Amino acid sequence: MLRSRYFLARSGIVCYSLKRLPALCMAAPRHFSQPILSLRAETMSNQHASSFITTPEHLAQILDIPVEPLRAVHAVYPLRVSRYYLDLIKQHGLPLWRQAVPDLQELADSVGLIDPLNEENLSPVPCLVHKYPDRALLLVASECAMYCRFCTRKRKVGKPEMIIDDAALAAGLEYLSRTPAISDVLISGGDPLMLPLARLERILKALRAIPSIATIRIGTRVPCTLPMRVTPRLAAMLKKYHPLYINTHFNHPAEITAEAELACARLADAGIPLGCQTVLLRGVNDDAEIIQELLYRLIRIRVKPYYLFQADLTKGTAHFRTTVDNGLAIMRHLIGRTTGLAVPTYALDAPGGGGKIPLTPAYIHHLGEVLEFITYQGQICSYPNRIDS
Ligand code: SF4
Repeated sequence: MLRSRYFLARSGIVCYSLKRLPALCMAAPRHFSQPILSLRAETMSNQHASSFITTPEHLAQILDIPVEPLRAVHAVYPLRVSRYYLDLIKQHGLPLWRQAVPDLQELADSVGLIDPLNEENLSPVPCLVHKYPDRALLLVASECAMYCRFCTRKRKVGKPEMIIDDAALAAGLEYLSRTPAISDVLISGGDPLMLPLARLERILKALRAIPSIATIRIGTRVPCTLPMRVTPRLAAMLKKYHPLYINTHFNHPAEITAEAELACARLADAGIPLGCQTVLLRGVNDDAEIIQELLYRLIRIRVKPYYLFQADLTKGTAHFRTTVDNGLAIMRHLIGRTTGLAVPTYALDAPGGGGKIPLTPAYIHHLGEVLEFITYQGQICSYPNRIDS
């Protein structure tokens, strides 16, 4: 009964009180075998979809849930959900709900760190993180289309204290100019694609004017949370600043909609290679079949799965964390069953700013003159590990 109600709800035929959604979705099948694209793009105007819910009162009213827990969390962490994403929550329930709706568990985290990647101490100037010799992270925006409940930078993203003004940007650009060892700049925030087009272009132009910078990368969740913001004008502007790469952030197959596909097509048609950084999140995607479905859907919309991240130790997100054993089991499931094109690197961003560490399932059984290894099916095979010339 629950199963058939779930599919009816997904098709938009039946509307349930959202108070019941978590229970309904617990009972929903975890493997999505529906056609990749829904038709909902034709039923929601862009203007409506790109408006936001930003207050506990408004969200409580729409979702028909108590307002007090939302108020308590909102007093500490910001709230923003687009109408577009809210509509996806109504269709797909808990895995998307958990990513967007404030939860009292955010206030009960006693182990998380305010700045788990030690970014503040690795910032020679306020909006720039310099962790690796040849790369830097430039924070250019303080706002996002959605304030994800699991965000690593939830200490400041969307908060008034995250000020990225002209002076801060100028300091970041000046640091990049006088540090020629940096050849790759990741611009992030917040979400760079939430900036006014002209401001984003000024930043890209300024970066391109620094001869030592070879590649520019943009980290954005807009193709997932507000895809209608990726307009032909935006794609045409970005195209002028190649080599430019974009890393998107999809966490669940239900986020791959017709709108998301169109956004990614516009970027890919502008010659921008697209990657995806997915975070393993409890109750969202900590399941091999869900991840496998997500990866398949990503490559179908021309997005290469890049990283599968173990969640950071961010204060306010403990309820999202999964074990590394679970992540390794998911990787074991993927390798051999999924095209290599779709298999991301499972990695941990080391607490304290130690950088990304790949976490791979152990396949080597014995390494000597003969390499003995274990296949994804659990068989032991060998390979001669000696060169006889
Ligand atoms: S879009 Fe990215 S930066 Fe913004 S809240 Fe979500 S995870 Fe954080």
